[in-house]
Amino acid sequence: PYVIAEPCIDVMDRSCMEECPVDCIYEGDRKLYINPMECIDCGNCEPVCPVEAISQDRRVPLELKDFVADNKRFFTES
Ligand code: SF4
Repeated sequence: PYVIAEPCIDVMDRSCMEECPVDCIYEGDRKLYINPMECIDCGNCEPVCPVEAISQDRRVPLELKDFVADNKRFFTES
């Protein structure tokens, strides 16, 4: 799935939500989250993010890997 990382914090532009065909992007308190169980890997959200916060999970830079787990946690603990 695609993952939203650190650049989204306190930005939450929401352009990605309009592009997502399955509406799997949700709002948290400080950033948006992609539900990994619902994302169909279409890639529509990635180019529209103004802060380039979105990437496919296997392409997330090493220093931002925690956000892969964080996106998952958002949907399993709520
Ligand atoms: Fe939605 Fe596609 Fe982005 Fe997954 S890759 S979050 S399905 S727009």
